[in-house]
Amino acid sequence: MEQNEQLHIGCHLSSAKGYLAMGKAALSIGADTFQFFTRNPRGSRAKAIDPEDAQALFRMLKENHFATILAHAPYTLNPASENPKVRAFALATIADDLQRMEYTPGQMYNFHPGSHVGQGMQTGIRLIAEALNRTLRAEQTTTVLLETMAGKGSEVGGRFEELAAILSQVELSDKVGVCLDTCHVYDGGYDIVHDLDGVLAEFDRIVGLSRLKAVHINDSKNPMGSHKDRHEKIGQGSIGTEAFARIINHPALRELPFYLETPNELPGYAEEIRLLRQQYRLRKH
Ligand code: FE
Ligand code: FE
Ligand code: ZN
Repeated sequence: MEQNEQLHIGCHLSSAKGYLAMGKAALSIGADTFQFFTRNPRGSRAKAIDPEDAQALFRMLKENHFATILAHAPYTLNPASENPKVRAFALATIADDLQRMEYTPGQMYNFHPGSHVGQGMQTGIRLIAEALNRTLRAEQTTTVLLETMAGKGSEVGGRFEELAAILSQVELSDKVGVCLDTCHVYDGGYDIVHDLDGVLAEFDRIVGLSRLKAVHINDSKNPMGSHKDRHEKIGQGSIGTEAFARIINHPALRELPFYLETPNELPGYAEEIRLLRQQYRLRKH
């Protein structure tokens, strides 16, 4: 922990100009962490990693006391597909990404668990756990996170029970955790606006709060339980500013890194970070 208690917050950044450029962009908007796609989010191609650029970023993160950064897998991956080729592609991508992550050791890698596409939830859960058991390595320093989903279509991970079931089937248990997306859980039917304590108690009972490693902080364009997954700017959606103040200050969440994935460019993100930092209360000692 840092001496000076502060909100750890950043946003999703483009990796188009390289790794160090993302660190600089984060600094320029008052962030102390960020998220990025390991490769084109819709495709498969990943630029070869530039080890010097990755090392320069890594030094910059340490010098500026950044919180853990978060890589996001392409969201088109589906390790729960009924098609063996689609599953094989997901496995190969995750394995390759995890190798790349070792250029910036000790960070986190988030992925959408997948969609069972009609095979049934239990089969989906089994295939996702299998994908992790085939790609996680005892020697890796990266923590892999399953993202909470909105429960759109046949998505796996819209219920805490589904995430818990995946985690229970993963052999290298200390390599995996959960990233809670506020828009997704709200759209999934968890009332973080009126009963944040209750939702987090439920998460603790079913998954365990020790598994929670990161928060995607997004407002939602749709009402609770809509299963839609459309992000909105902080304070402009159905979750609202007051709920976000409670979320960032909640004892179970306040020390975690928060990542904005709101529809913004850098100036909009800078403003959201500034506003959320204003809402962060120092803990009374
Ligand atoms: Fe995501
Ligand atoms: Fe997210
Ligand atoms: Zn989303």
